[in-house]
Amino acid sequence: MKRVTILGATGSIGQNTIDLIKRAPDDHDVVALTGGRNVALLAQDAIDLNAQIAVTCYDDCAGELRDLLSHTDIETASGEAAIIEAASHPCDWTMSAIVGAAGLKPGIAALAHGGILALANKESLVTAGPILLETAKTYGATVLPVDSEHSAVFQALVGEDINSVERIIITASGGAFRDWPIADLAKATVAEATSHPIWNMGQRITIDSASMFNKGMELIETKEFFGVSSSHIDAVLHPESTVHAMVAFHDGCLMAHMGAPDMRHAIGYALHWPKREALPLKRLDFTQDQSLTFRPIDVARYPAISLARTVMEEGGFAGTIYNAAKETALDGFIAGKIGFLDMARVVDMTLTKILADHSLQNAPFTLDTVFDTDHRARIEAAQALYSLG
Ligand code: NDP
Ligand code: MG
Repeated sequence: MKRVTILGATGSIGQNTIDLIKRAPDDHDVVALTGGRNVALLAQDAIDLNAQIAVTCYDDCAGELRDLLSHTDIETASGEAAIIEAASHPCDWTMSAIVGAAGLKPGIAALAHGGILALANKESLVTAGPILLETAKTYGATVLPVDSEHSAVFQALVGEDINSVERIIITASGGAFRDWPIADLAKATVAEATSHPIWNMGQRITIDSASMFNKGMELIETKEFFGVSSSHIDAVLHPESTVHAMVAFHDGCLMAHMGAPDMRHAIGYALHWPKREALPLKRLDFTQDQSLTFRPIDVARYPAISLARTVMEEGGFAGTIYNAAKETALDGFIAGKIGFLDMARVVDMTLTKILADHSLQNAPFTLDTVFDTDHRARIEAAQALYSLG
């Protein structure tokens, strides 16, 4: 029996993880499930999976969760500290699928008991990649990527020497506005940005796909996770989303990872790693008509990509700033305070302002300084947002 915990159980990745676990209940002993406002779903899954602990990050949801589980012996708790505490309970496999930088501390707490951290929360790597990976090393824990592109790269690298890699190419579907005239983007609404042509995901990452902040985050994630220099990492537009990533080696060979656009592949791969088990996914059929198209990403349409390149070259706290400013800008867009294109302006203004402070270059890169910088970036981004709104 594998002891599993799911952080962000009520979200899109959390639910896909639960779908796989429910198909093999005898193989899994569920330790903790965490969620936010969707308390009814959290409680129902905790009952269905016979979890030991269910935690909501919101104190004002604690009463409802307690009431829903009062007839069971499932422990309940609330708040950020309780999520971290739940993540600290010994288990073999933890899914890190909280959205945003809020996933960082629980993910780090999960590493402290060794085992596997299946990392969907890309913000952890963008915000504090070196700390996360160093912590894993300290405790002998394994971090497995769950972002589909990074799972694909990870799989293409099995048995390979990283020094033989010439390029890593991740693909981008292009999101909701791939085919919109650039002139119309300024007026794009939240509802329009929330409809993805291919992937079915949480609202925040879906909007980040439309702006390509998601791909920007993934470029940074690639550099952090695989330790490859930024000049060896590319992203290309691939509307069919069938090829998730490609790894080019120095003998001229290129390995492409293909599959249906279904996150249960990357989740299932991490769940069963190092084995490759059967998964209930749609199969690609190349005996039928299939077209695979690739084209360069137009950086004029997607400034998030150029900003990510700046971050990769700067290193240090640049990723922390990029993520925090992006989260603040996204909140502003969702709340109707700024337009779609203003999100990149907010991130640009915040990066420019904070990176001009050279004292940051000499600061040690610790969790405390990361959270100080994250906090500062959110304040600066809120000011930038105000000036644009
Ligand atoms: P969702 O918004 O669907 O789910 C987020 C989860 O986190 C929910 O359980 C939510 O609770 C919970 N949550 C929200 N805020 C907090 C907080 N402050 N503290 C603790 N828990 C919180 O997101 P996704 O599942 O789409 O994404 C999760 C992560 O995986 C993100 O980092 C995303 O970038 C990454 N990812 C997602 C992919 C996808 O296909 N969805 C693909 C690749 C990566 P509730 O909903 O109950 O309020
Ligand atoms: Mg991805």
